[in-house]
Amino acid sequence: MIRPALSDTVFGVAAGGRHSALTVLRLSGLRCAEMLAAMGAGGLAPRYASLRSLRDGQGGLLDRALVLWFPAPRSYTGEDCAELHLHGGGAVLDGVVTALANLGGRPAEAGEFTRRAFINGRIDLLEAEAIGDLVAAETDAQRDQALLQMQGALGDIYSGWQKRLTRIMATLEAEIDFPDEFVEGGHSNPVEVDITHLLQEIGQRLEQDKTAEKLRTGLSIAVVGAPNVGKSTLVNAICDREVSIVSEIPGTTRDAVEARISLGGVPVTFVDTAGLREAGDQIEREGIRRARDRARAADLVLFVTDTPGNYGLPEFINDIRTIKVRNKSDICPGASDGINVSALRGDGMSGLHAALTSEALRLARGRTVPALTRPRHRAALVDVVDHLLAATQCQGVEFVAEEVRLASNSLARVSTGAETDDVLDLVFRQFCIGK
Ligand code: GDP
Repeated sequence: MIRPALSDTVFGVAAGGRHSALTVLRLSGLRCAEMLAAMGAGGLAPRYASLRSLRDGQGGLLDRALVLWFPAPRSYTGEDCAELHLHGGGAVLDGVVTALANLGGRPAEAGEFTRRAFINGRIDLLEAEAIGDLVAAETDAQRDQALLQMQGALGDIYSGWQKRLTRIMATLEAEIDFPDEFVEGGHSNPVEVDITHLLQEIGQRLEQDKTAEKLRTGLSIAVVGAPNVGKSTLVNAICDREVSIVSEIPGTTRDAVEARISLGGVPVTFVDTAGLREAGDQIEREGIRRARDRARAADLVLFVTDTPGNYGLPEFINDIRTIKVRNKSDICPGASDGINVSALRGDGMSGLHAALTSEALRLARGRTVPALTRPRHRAALVDVVDHLLAATQCQGVEFVAEEVRLASNSLARVSTGAETDDVLDLVFRQFCIGK
């Protein structure tokens, strides 16, 4: 758990590392300038790259490196910051890190630079989350969504709602303080209409944005079918690499094997499950039980057979969206109600790929509007909706005002970070060291 003491000066590798040409070591804290000067990197001009000889406590040369100096408050963390562009390799990095530690610095925790930026008011929690998402983005669509949030699009929506709640509260407070100015129930119409509109808008967003959460976390597609129908071969063909063990002996894939690819910008994890059949030893039976669990938890099931004709689905995947695939069309031709492919020869695979991509996009469509991508936001907005609903059902202006105030507090939690330390830990723990 991170509890940054802001008096500490911290350092962390932001890029590169042991096996790279360069390593970027980042520093932040009150004693940055003093520590750098002690290592021979004094007299730095702000935001310029200066070449310096870095030395240890005994005056030994550690590296000739570029040093960038970002004095507070115009830095990433809002504190004095520096970047050391060192030569790559373990020895240089170890020497510099040891020298910094000897001068009183300490290694940064994961996400500590961004957490400091948040504590020092440089960014709000929404921007911090967006930075985390951007760094973790694997696909174009994930990147676009993170950038949208980073530019404040989501924050604008929340602050618009917050302003409307403040206006409603002001009307209610006025009615509480100056009851004579209002005819009996005088506020009720405009305030009720405003609350109802807000409820509708937030409710709609909560509904729409379930798909966007999928874009951030990725979809899971379980590949299910009897042993030996070609499930592993199919996953390998879709993912274009050897992920699963292909074998002629039924029951080879005894537990789920996973492969992650991007379909139309949506990150997708294929879960190649153990073949479904009644026989088999204890380990295989356990594999089959897990296969059923994985299929039930998946967003989409690929149900594979290798014989022509129409076929029903096993009961346990009845209510999960399923694409039927009929494999081995090369050796047993004939029509079926699934997509006909030969995973081995590649026949029909582009059609299957297109069907999978359109399904992935449907489930987690690429967006041009910012989305609620995190359960944290969803939980807070559900609270807002609950309080606003309660406000519409209360009698007495004081009670209505109290519910609106609670709704406003819940909304503020999302971006201002009036969150508990545990929630903050959860947000920043997902970052890497040096970010
Ligand atoms: P799984 O048990 O369902 O995962 O099946 P595998 O992928 O291990 O394949 C079982 C056997 O079927 C292997 O010998 C594969 O080479 C073969 N196989 C898979 N797909 C095809 C196909 O499209 N055509 C032919 N002829 N054989 C295939």
